[in-house]
Amino acid sequence: MSHGKDPLPTDPVWGVLGVRQAGRLPERADVLVIGGGITGVSLLYWLRGRAHAVLVERHHLAAGASGRNAGFLLAGVAACYAEAVRRYGRDRARETWAFTAETHDLLAEALQGREVGYRRTGSQLLPASLEEAAELAASAELLREDGFEASWDGERLLNPRDGELDPVRAVSALAELAPTGSIREGVEVEALEASPGGVRVFAGQDECLAGTVVLATNAYTPLLLPEVGIAPVRAQMLATGPERRRLVDMPTYSDRGFRYWRQLPDGRLLAGGFRHHAPEEEVGYETVTTARVQGLLEGEVRRLGAQAPIANRWSGIMGFTETELPIVGPVAGRPGIWVCGGYSGHGMGFAFQCARLLANRLMGSARETQMGSSSSTTGSPQ
Ligand SMILES: Cc1cc2nc3c(=O)[nH]c(=O)nc-3n(C[C@H](O)[C@H](O)[C@H](O)COP(=O)(O)OP(=O)(O)OC[C@H]3O[C@@H](n4cnc5c(N)ncnc54)[C@H](O)[C@@H]3O)c2cc1C
Repeated sequence: MSHGKDPLPTDPVWGVLGVRQAGRLPERADVLVIGGGITGVSLLYWLRGRAHAVLVERHHLAAGASGRNAGFLLAGVAACYAEAVRRYGRDRARETWAFTAETHDLLAEALQGREVGYRRTGSQLLPASLEEAAELAASAELLREDGFEASWDGERLLNPRDGELDPVRAVSALAELAPTGSIREGVEVEALEASPGGVRVFAGQDECLAGTVVLATNAYTPLLLPEVGIAPVRAQMLATGPERRRLVDMPTYSDRGFRYWRQLPDGRLLAGGFRHHAPEEEVGYETVTTARVQGLLEGEVRRLGAQAPIANRWSGIMGFTETELPIVGPVAGRPGIWVCGGYSGHGMGFAFQCARLLANRLMGSARETQMGSSSSTTGSPQ
C-alpha cells in the first residue's frame, strides 16, 4: 500500500468507523445480507420490521468502495444524458435519471438530522473537449425537455439538485437504525449452497440456513458467484491538507466522468479518476495506489490551485456491469440467492433505492421464492 518512497497514508480521507460490531454467522435468518457497504445497510433499513435480516461483513462496515469513494450524489450514470439516451433509449434514460433523483431525496430524508456531511450543493460537468461541450449542451436540452432541472451556460452543465456527503458517516448512520445484533462484522462468507429449506451459507466453522441470501458484495460478487456479470475496476483518489482558499464549490465531473473533484468544508481538496490513462492496470481486486495515476491526480489538484501537501492517497474497487446499469434481483438458476450491485461507479446515487426495490420484491414474492422459483431479473433498476 505504500506509494513510491513516501510514507504517505493510503487510507481514505473519511477515516474508518471507531465502533466495531464483531459477531458470528447466525444459525438461521430469513434474509442473510452479505456485505456491509451502502447496499448492505440500505437493505437492512428497508427490511427492518419486515423480516429477520442479518448482515455479515468480512472486515468492517464501509471497508469496501462505500468507505473509499468521493461522496458525490449525482443523478444518472457516468455517461452524460445525451449519451445515455443513445445507449439506452429515451424512456430508459429518463427512468434512470428519475430513479436516481428519487434515490437522492429518499436518502436525504432517511439521513435527516444526522451528521453525515450531506449538502445539496448541485454539481457541475465540465467538458474536456469541444466535442464533450456539444454533448453536455445537448444533454442539458434533453434533460429540460424530460422535466429535469439542468442548464448549460456555455462552459458547464449545472445539475442544481445533486449533492455530496461523507460516505462513511452515511453508512454508519444507516447502520445505527438497524435492529440490535443484526450487523455482524468479521464474518467472511466462503460458500453458498442450495438446500431444500433455503440457502446454506458457510463461514469458517459456522453454517447458516437462510431463507434468502442477498449479495451486497458489489465488485466482490463474482468471487462467490462467478456467473454474475460484475467486473472489478479500481479507482484512485487523493486529498490535500486544508487549503485556505475555496477552489471549487460543488462536486465536479469532467472528461466524461474520468476526472472528478470536490472540496470539503474544511478546505481539503479531493480528486479522483484518470483510470482511462491506465485501463489495463486499473482492474482487479488490489486496493493499492500507483505512481502513474497518483502523479496525474497530483497534477490535477495543482492545476486547480491547491498548495497544501497531499495528505491522503487511496483506492477502492468498483463493480461494473456490461450495460453500466445495476443488477437487482434473483440470480437465474440459484434459488434463494439475490444480487443488488454493479453500480458501475455510481453506487452512492443508486444503492439506497435499489435496496428498497429489492426489499419490496423480496417481501412481495416471499411465497414464490420459498417455492423455489428461479425466475431472474437482472439489468437496470426496474
Ligand atoms: C474511488 C472511488 C470513488 C467513487 N466515487 C463515487 C461517488 O462519488 N459517487 C457514487 O455514487 N459512487 C462512487 N463510487 C462507487 C461507490 O463507492 C460504489 O458504487 C458503492 O460504494 C458500492 O457499495 P456496495 O455496498 O454495493 O459495495 P461495497 O461498498 O464495495 O461493499 C461490499 C462489501 O462486501 C464485503 N464482502 C465482500 N465479499 C464478502 C464475503 N465473502 N463475506 C463477507 N463480506 C464480503 C466487502 O468487504 C465490502 O465491505 C466510487 C468508488 C470508488 C472506488
